[in-house]
Amino acid sequence: MGIVGSGPAGIYAADLLTKNETLAAEGLPVSIDILEKLPTPYGLVRYGVAPDHPRIKQIQGALHKILDKPGIRFLGNVEYGVDLKLEDLRRHYDAVIFATGSDRDRPLDIPGADLPGSHGAADFVFWYDSHPDVSSSWRVDGSSVAVIGAGNVAVDVARILAKNADDLLDTDITDNVHEGLRAKKITDVHVFARRGIAQAKFTPMELRELDKQPGVEVIVHPEDFELDDDSLAAIEESNQVKTNVKVLQNWAIRDPRGEERRLHLHFLHSPVAILGQDRVSGLRTERMEPAGGGRVRGTGEFVDHEVQAVYRAIGYLGSPAAGLPFDEEQGVVPNDGGRVLDLDEQPIPGVYATGWIKRGPVGLIGHTKGDALETVGNLVADRASFAPAPDPDPVSFLRLLEERHVPYTTWEGWQRLEAHEESLGEPHGRKRIKVRSRDEMVRIARGESG
Ligand code: NAP
Repeated sequence: MGIVGSGPAGIYAADLLTKNETLAAEGLPVSIDILEKLPTPYGLVRYGVAPDHPRIKQIQGALHKILDKPGIRFLGNVEYGVDLKLEDLRRHYDAVIFATGSDRDRPLDIPGADLPGSHGAADFVFWYDSHPDVSSSWRVDGSSVAVIGAGNVAVDVARILAKNADDLLDTDITDNVHEGLRAKKITDVHVFARRGIAQAKFTPMELRELDKQPGVEVIVHPEDFELDDDSLAAIEESNQVKTNVKVLQNWAIRDPRGEERRLHLHFLHSPVAILGQDRVSGLRTERMEPAGGGRVRGTGEFVDHEVQAVYRAIGYLGSPAAGLPFDEEQGVVPNDGGRVLDLDEQPIPGVYATGWIKRGPVGLIGHTKGDALETVGNLVADRASFAPAPDPDPVSFLRLLEERHVPYTTWEGWQRLEAHEESLGEPHGRKRIKVRSRDEMVRIARGESG
């Protein structure tokens, strides 16, 4: 089997394939290649989870155990669509699962969204997580900045913007990120949610964490707390909503602490324009009011906020995979329970999807397991319907990569790179410091001298 993408979605699918009782009962040896365009495994755990979330990063330990299993082979620095096409995968694998995730920002279609100083959250997250394919420099401009969105990504971005750069020195951040964040002069971060407090998508733990940053206090505005009957019902029905609302209400009635930086949470403000001539100088929002069923409607009242940068955290989108249909609006590969569908909505034999490229960027990392269960279950149920690979020999696949001069990395190579990153961290009492350059990662992983 071939799996494209080594984030949690791809790795969980691999795990389930190796443990599948039907395949085991048939005595079929399951051999899996996980192909990854980056030289390193773990996808968004390495390049999406914020550096100050070590608890979530620990998932890497569980993923490591899976990649360490016999029968699973990690091949990094191999880009589907560039180094390999669908025909190549079909030649070497009986079935292929796409687990390529969501790697770009959903566009915000309002005037000024393309002004300098208007940033997609994905780009900022990739930068602070030292993704090898984004520029190492980022000017974290402004004293007042806006973050649009009320999900956990908006919360991550707002927290990093408000936080003391030195408080990240116990994480795996690289020097360029530390220096970029140290240079910031931000005193006020304004987060804008278009709906009300009962419709916010962030989770309570992440919300509370905002107020625990040294030197930062969260400010909320009671006039934003309008709750209609449906919002009250939503509070009753969901513990998450109940806790979020309680936390926010408690913040609304306390006295300000007078911290040096403030993180303002605004609700019922929908962005209508990013203002500025040559670069961002403000954000215009429309006041919204509850309209039943969790929806909101505009009140016709507009507010201009003076900010020097805007971070758009309104959700991610997947990217098209060469040779497969793509749903541009949802940013997913069209599928039915993970069975990838052609333009006539018929399953393409032997081609599957799992994770965010299958169902969109919703849910926490753990939710990807249930998703993989469905995809793998369908793949196993369908196995009689797809033709076996003409050339399943694992060595012959490596030969193909070599013929195409693809400098691929391996599981052993990743472990070498990981040991190197740990050795960079050790003198500073840090668990690891990431290597940022792709060339350097490849060189270390391939054991080549520099
Ligand atoms: P999300 O949870 O879907 O939140 C997107 C936010 O953007 C929503 O508040 C949404 O508002 C808003 N939005 C969408 N379009 C908008 C528009 N045109 N104008 C204004 N606001 C708009 O997505 P996410 O924050 O990108 O997170 C993706 C997933 O990753 C989530 O499941 C999240 O929990 C998870 N995640 C988890 C963690 C963690 O556990 N620490 C960290 C990061 C991400 P509406 O609700 O009104 O549409």
